[in-house]
Amino acid sequence: MKIGIIALQGGFYEHHYMLRKLAGETGWSIEPVFVRKPSDLRGVDAVIIPGGESTTIGVVARRLGLLEELRDLLASGLPAMGTCAGAALLAKSVRDRVVGETKQPLLAVMDIEVVRNYFGRQRESFEVDLRIPAIGGKPFRGVFIRAPAITRLWGRTQKLAELDGVAVAAEEDGKLALAFHPELTGDTRLHRYFMERVKR
Ligand code: GLN
Repeated sequence: MKIGIIALQGGFYEHHYMLRKLAGETGWSIEPVFVRKPSDLRGVDAVIIPGGESTTIGVVARRLGLLEELRDLLASGLPAMGTCAGAALLAKSVRDRVVGETKQPLLAVMDIEVVRNYFGRQRESFEVDLRIPAIGGKPFRGVFIRAPAITRLWGRTQKLAELDGVAVAAEEDGKLALAFHPELTGDTRLHRYFMERVKR
């Protein structure tokens, strides 16, 4: 399976590492490729949109013609996993906790509302054990870095995990939005969960 990792800004290399680690653990054939222009999307079975700065990723992707191309593919069913900034890009509605309206370019393919920088200054970056029943009973170490939260879900979107009463992981038809960074933990369970959806 060919997995495109959007590699314009942010933590794309870490996702590449995690996919290779997962391939080693499972024996699955996973070919991670970095996506920097529309033609890099040719033949991919899924995409990963990393954390970083969602406005920057969106603006650069739009300038390269990648945003439109990707939006069309996602709208017609291509699976995607977005972590942190990537989750914001997948959302249909995005606000910032402090500045409110962001008017940033979005992929807008998931029925979720994301509030950027939700956890604020006191808890700007932190780690916490999350309970994610979909991947089993063992807690998952959530690494939150200026993280967003998923403040509203509608349609067919399911909440996978919550923290302080707000959703931090959501799933809708092979699309996964995660407010934290599973690529920084070495724990491949969420990448595996995603790949299981891609393989279907
Ligand atoms: N606060 C960033 C944004 O909303 C996301 C931070 C991150 O990806 N670690 O774009």
